[in-house]
Parts: sequence; C-alpha cells; structure tokens
Amino acid sequence: MRKIFLFMGIQGSGKGTQANRLADRYSLAHVSTGDLFRAVMKEQSPLGNELREIVNAGQLVPDDLTSRMVRDRIDDPDTQQGVIFDGYPRTVPQAEALDAMLGERGEAISRVVFFDLPREKAVERLEPRRVCSVNNAHIYHLVNNPPKQEGFCDIDGAALIQRADDTPEAITKRVDAYLQETLPLVDAYESRGLVAKLDATGDISTVTRQLEDMVEGNV
Ligand code: ADP
Repeated sequence: MRKIFLFMGIQGSGKGTQANRLADRYSLAHVSTGDLFRAVMKEQSPLGNELREIVNAGQLVPDDLTSRMVRDRIDDPDTQQGVIFDGYPRTVPQAEALDAMLGERGEAISRVVFFDLPREKAVERLEPRRVCSVNNAHIYHLVNNPPKQEGFCDIDGAALIQRADDTPEAITKRVDAYLQETLPLVDAYESRGLVAKLDATGDISTVTRQLEDMVEGNV
C-alpha cells in the first residue's frame, strides 16, 4: 500500500523545503496545494485571475475547489510509491474530504508530521524567503539557505523573487488562518495516534535527517 504523509505546520516551518528533499529521495509525489494553485495563477484565465486575488491577499481558497484539485492529482502515475501532502488539508471540510478520498481507494494516512515552530520564528523566516521565478517550488532563504549565486536559482538559473503573498499584511492573514483553522486539525490527528512532532527550529539538514528516520520507519 502506498505511503500517505501529511506535512502540517505554520507558514515558514520548512514543509515545502523538506517535502522537496524527501520526495526526490524516496520517489514520493510532493503534492503542494500552494504549488498547484500557483501553476494555475500563471494562466490568464478566469480561474487564474480568481486564484491570484485570493492567494495574493493571503486568504484561503474555497474548500471545494481545493479538494477537487487534490482529487485530480492523487491518481497521477508519479504518486504510486506514495504522497507527501504539503499544505493540505487546512480546514475541517478538507480533512473530511481527504479521509473520504483515501477511504474510496482503500487507503489511510500513514503519518502526520507536525513541524513545530513558534509564530514569531515563522514570521521571521517568511520575509527573507525567495523563490525561483520559473518554479516556486525551488525555495531559498537569504540567510539560512542562500543560493550559490546571489539572486539566481541554483537549479535552473532563473531570477529569484519574493512571493506576492510574502508581504507583511498577507503573512499576518495566512498565519492567523493557520492558527484558527489548521492547528486544531493537528489535535484531531493526534487523538487518532497519527502525529509525529518535529522540532522545526533546527537547521535544514538536521530536520531532513529526522524525517528520513521517520520515513524509513526507524521512529
Ligand atoms: P503557505 O503555507 O506559506 O501559506 P502555500 O504555498 O502552502 O504557502 O499556500 C499559498 C496559498 O495557497 C495559501 O495562502 C492559500 O491562499 C492557498 N492554499 C494553499 N493550500 C490551501 C488549502 N489547503 N486550502 C485553501 N487554500 C490553500
């Protein structure tokens, strides 16, 4: 049965960075709803325009649309070995939709990894975050994880930019939504015995090592 991991944690806690690393290493599909939305936002289409307004303002995309995007993604061929969900679910209806989707397939969540990071630390990490202008999944931090050549992506050489929703106003909205709507889900998963808590204040390689142990079933 394929592995289903949920990466949960506040903005800036390193979910995306770590999911990229683990997905490569273990041939898991990295399903980031944020990345799925940003791909559509590049299009000049009614949906692209609508998503741009919602996401750049730091608001949550409606649950139905979000769960539909996930449903369309989780049977792709690259998901056969397993999936890391990054940024999904974020609300009670999304968590219910995920359980239903997995149930229909005779599957279940293997582990919920909770990236534990205080709010102040999270906010500190977001302003210096830079992403590749061609692929926002290539993530850097000006101090903790700088590119080899200042201003350019290590992977494809494209210019680095700040995400449009990494403005102070949008950051506050996103973090508030996380604390109100998403954090309670972690408690619910905890009571199902699914949560592994990770100290997300550690440096990138330290956290990766902990995750590798987890994926390999050593902890
Ligand atoms: P962050 O975790 O820093 O907010 P993401 O890349 O995960 O960054 O998400 C960016 C934005 O995409 C969110 O602020 C929200 O607008 C939208 N989004 C992502 N995932 C979801 C989701 N599960 N439900 C609703 N909106 C989402």
